[in-house]
Amino acid sequence: MTNWEPYQRAKGERLRVTETSCCGEYEWACQGGEFLILRYNGSGYEETGRGRYAARKVWEHLVQAHKVRATRRRASPDRCQDGS
Ligand SMILES: [Zn+2]
Repeated sequence: MTNWEPYQRAKGERLRVTETSCCGEYEWACQGGEFLILRYNGSGYEETGRGRYAARKVWEHLVQAHKVRATRRRASPDRCQDGS
């Protein structure tokens, strides 16, 4: 299971988003030499997977889970690039 926590912006550390997942659901970011994954929950950002190495595995899991959901949603493929 992925554990999401409210994103805390660290003072003086620049957040760099370098990748956005399908449909813009998740963002791959780097901050202070660590990686983390962000998502917008409607009112603010949440983060998960923060760390040097663990984050990429979490990211791949999330992207894969998105693809599975997208395949199930095939009735409305215009909403997602994964279905095609
Ligand atoms: Zn998608």
